[in-house]
Amino acid sequence: MIAVPEDGEIELDLLIESVVEGLLVSGTASAKVEGECARCLEPLTDEVEVRITELYAWPDSTTDETTDEDEVSRIENDLIDLEPVVRDAIVLALPQAPLCEPDCKGLCSECGGRWAELGPDHGHETIDPRWAALQERFSDDNNEEK
Ligand SMILES: [Zn+2]
Ligand SMILES: [Zn+2]
Repeated sequence: MIAVPEDGEIELDLLIESVVEGLLVSGTASAKVEGECARCLEPLTDEVEVRITELYAWPDSTTDETTDEDEVSRIENDLIDLEPVVRDAIVLALPQAPLCEPDCKGLCSECGGRWAELGPDHGHETIDPRWAALQERFSDDNNEEK
């Protein structure tokens, strides 16, 4: 329902420190996200910012030998791959049910219009079908009496 657009940019503000076992990357990543309101389905854009702390272990370090690759990232050919780490962090931070406004009223269950546009006076005349049948019968009787 909400995601980073394909051509969306992710801004990184990271500090990379050299530690015994490898490189420690920490900082923030922020991205514009696009989606639709969970209540009224209007398109919306939002921004998420996540904190990142990730250790990339040197090949042949103790960490490399004692952990799995999906537990601790690795430095490969002197390069670190930030993308999966950043992507996972942002995906986790996305709201499950994004709203266009915190108090979005959603849609009218009768006509599907947005309450934000319909206004507070909007409503539908709803007559219980049984009452509708009675009303018809009464009006027929009245016609016969005349
Ligand atoms: Zn909405
Ligand atoms: Zn309506």
